[in-house]
Parts: sequence; C-alpha cells; structure tokens
Amino acid sequence: MSDKKIVDKQYQIEDTEHSRQILEKAMEVAMKEIPKGHVATYIPELGKVDPNQLGVCFYPLKGDKICIGDYDVRFTMQSVSKVIMLIVALEICGLDNVFRKVGAEPSGEAFDSLVELDKNDAKPYNPLINSGALAVSSLLLPEVSFQDMLRYTRRVCSDPEIDLNRTVYDSEMATCSRNRSISYLLESKGIIATDVEDNLKLYTKMCSMNVTADSLANLANKLANDGVSTVDGKRYMSSITARIVKTLLLTCGMYDGSGTFAIKVGIPTKSGVGGGLLAVSDKRAGIGVFSPALDAQGNSIAGCKLLREIANKLCLNLFYDPEWDKKIEEETVITNLREHSVM
Ligand code: GLN
Repeated sequence: MSDKKIVDKQYQIEDTEHSRQILEKAMEVAMKEIPKGHVATYIPELGKVDPNQLGVCFYPLKGDKICIGDYDVRFTMQSVSKVIMLIVALEICGLDNVFRKVGAEPSGEAFDSLVELDKNDAKPYNPLINSGALAVSSLLLPEVSFQDMLRYTRRVCSDPEIDLNRTVYDSEMATCSRNRSISYLLESKGIIATDVEDNLKLYTKMCSMNVTADSLANLANKLANDGVSTVDGKRYMSSITARIVKTLLLTCGMYDGSGTFAIKVGIPTKSGVGGGLLAVSDKRAGIGVFSPALDAQGNSIAGCKLLREIANKLCLNLFYDPEWDKKIEEETVITNLREHSVM
C-alpha cells in the first residue's frame, strides 16, 4: 500500500459523512449481539434497565462529533468512574503515592475478585478493578469530598447535568458485601488507612454518577488529546497522567477480557457494568458507547462489537497495519487464535 493511501486512511475520520456511514453500519451489526448478553443484576436497580439500548458518540480531535442512537440516555458510570478517581489521585496525591497502594499489572481475574489479595505483600493488581479503585479512593478521601469529585467529573466530561443517581447508589450500598469484604481486607493490610465505610460510600457514589455516551466521548476526547480540551484549549490533567491512564486502559481496562479485547479492537477502553464504554483512540478520537447488556466479563456485549467494527473500518486499532486490511487475513488470524484457545 502506498504512503498516500496510509495517509488517506488516517485522515478519513475527519470526513464526517464517511464516519457516520461506518458508525451506522456498525450500530446495525452490534445490535444483533444484544440478545447474547444480560444486564447486571447483582446491583438490583441495574437489573431493571432495558437491555435493548445502544448509543455511540464519536468525537474526533479534528472534525465534527457524531452521535447516534441512545447517545443521550443517562446511565450510571460504574467502573468508568475508576478512571476519574485515578486521574484525580495522580494529580493530587502523585504517582508514587498511588502506585505504593496499587500495582499496574493486569489481574486476569474478575473485577470484584479478592482471591489474590490475602497473600503476603499482595496489593491490588491495578487501579481499574474494584480492590484497586477502593485503595485509590481511600487516598482521595482525606483530600476531596464527593461534591469536589462531581464538580471535576462535570468539567472533564463537559456535562453539567451529571448527578448522583440516588436510587442506584442506595441499591448498591444495600448489596455491596463483596466490596465491603475487599475493603476490610485492605484495611487489615494497611492499604486502606481511612474509615472503611466512608470510603465505600465515596467509591459507590462515584460509580452511581449518571452520564451519557456523549459525556464519556467528551472525556475520551480530552484523554486522546493528552489532557487538553479541543474546544477551549484548557488543560484538564497533566499529559503524564493522561499517558498513564491510557496505558492502563489498554492493559487493564476490560478486566479479565483486556488481552482479548486488545487483540480484537486495539483501542484503550474502560467498561462499566452500567453498560458504558470509554474508548480513547490516541491523538485521533474519543468514543463513548452505551449498551447495558453485558458479556461474561461484565463488558457491554454490543458496545465491544461496535468498537471492533469501527476500529477495523476507521483504522483505529493502535497496531493498525494497512497491509492487514484484507478481511480474509483477519479471519485467518482469528481462527488461528481460536484454535490456540486465545479467544
Ligand atoms: N459499582 C460496581 C462494583 O463495585 C462497579 C463494577 C463495574 O462496573 N465493573 O461492583
């Protein structure tokens, strides 16, 4: 493939009409996945959500934002809020203090696991699983209030309407035995040094903020642009914070599905059990997705399919190689991986 063609591919996302067509087609393909998934029920309120919803917001650094389907439906941020807590903790507590409490390695286990935590010297694998985020929020607890975090979330998501969903919050607080267990275990190891119950409240309130696919795209757009808004030119986090967050999204953002997702899609992404996906195509676009039916790992089943489609069609895979453009070759690779039980 000539250099010109590579350049054309890279700039295609600035062609709004072309991107819109690809997104609309991807929506159709992704919609078919919904019946294979299930809404989360371990938080009873989430079990009441209509699974047949799908929305996407695609926000390139250059070019117009494209929003389709249920992009303005409010849903709770859930684990996507771990990204915001990590950003704020890196900014105000510093990198050393954060990574003294949590690791930066993929866990290979369920997001709410406490299996490994009881081992001597064990600390949470990373800040994007429940144990790691509970440790991060305990660093924040003496420094900020929930109102401070809400204010920052509204700013960084460019969405003043974000608020606490009290019903989902109460529902999770009444059923959060696993997070409570993780928290007391972390306290016994000296990783949580603040009041455990207050910390659980802060963590759960963060999970219960009502966002839209649009607000997630706004945050993803700033991350893609190294922490600076493409609208007002203001910096919302340091570039090193943006870089660390993006790296962890790639390696740990989809829990024990992170490796497979990185192979199939190759866009650093964070999921939440509310059905949200925050996807950061570095230097190119921020993407927010909402679809509440989840796969076995707790990631939006149609949302992942949608991202896979647009990663392929808009060449957003981090390791995109124009020579790999031939569909037949991709299918061969996937078949090989399946035979070797990678996916
Ligand atoms: N609030 C949820 C929990 O703590 C968030 C988990 C998730 O989105 N994966 O279990």
